Amino acid sequence: MDENVQKAVDLILYSEYTIAFTGAGISVESGIPPFRGENGLWSKYDPNALDLGNFHLNPVEAWKVIKEIFYDFFGEAKPNDAHLVLAELEKQGLVKAIITQNIDNLHYDAGSREVYEFHGNSRMLVCPYCDKKVVAEETDLNYIPLCDKCHAVLKPDFIFFGEGIPEEAYKKSVEAAQKADLVIIIGSTGEVVPAASIPPFAKQNGAKVIEINPEESSFTGSITDIFLKGKATEVMKEILNGIKQKI
Ligand code: NAD
Repeated sequence: MDENVQKAVDLILYSEYTIAFTGAGISVESGIPPFRGENGLWSKYDPNALDLGNFHLNPVEAWKVIKEIFYDFFGEAKPNDAHLVLAELEKQGLVKAIITQNIDNLHYDAGSREVYEFHGNSRMLVCPYCDKKVVAEETDLNYIPLCDKCHAVLKPDFIFFGEGIPEEAYKKSVEAAQKADLVIIIGSTGEVVPAASIPPFAKQNGAKVIEINPEESSFTGSITDIFLKGKATEVMKEILNGIKQKI
């Protein structure tokens, strides 16, 4: 086993409160590209669809794009081995919580339960006026979804550009980062704020940091203790094998 993977396994086994911090990269091998970069979603779609002002002005146009990306396309995606290993580690008590920037529901689908969705999720639709929520899967998105109480156009329950972080997820993420003695960062550039401030906050509170990414990120040279260069699924499977050999 690679020496750094070995060190990561030991850290996971001997830490008291390990959290994972995940970004778009963990879902790449489920077929969901990140937003930015050469093959990113924004090379194909107009990010204006997620601008709140634009959404209210042109809900029909915005919903066309939102449905295609977040329901037709994301809807096909299944959790990959990296999501599944995290869920397994949670069952074994080796991961206490996952803070995710993703809105694709794949941690829940994989079986993880303590998941703090920093940017919300696409599972629910919410009325921007009365806050009533409905399950997206139970809604016919071939029509513009309307609130049955106040008839406003529903929006996905993830944050659009310029919207605040959901209060509960923010509070739980900060609490978890305070308690953590180990953070496993998977597939995040660390460029989206305020999410990117969570791992450094944990580090300030004494946590060690393992990072998994095929490329270096803004965390790598600053807070990362062990950098495991590679794809999330491959590295997470190596880690699980390493853990199985030791327990
Ligand atoms: P990002 O798009 O900024 O960066 C993705 C990172 O993943 C990069 O560092 C890249 O090197 C890495 N990566 C690529 N392939 C990987 C793999 N196979 N294994 C591990 N890492 C891999 O991602 P971000 O920092 O999460 O920020 C983007 C924002 O876009 C977030 O706010 C997120 O909510 C949102 N987003 C979410 C999804 C989703 O829900 N799946 C998809 C696209 C964007």
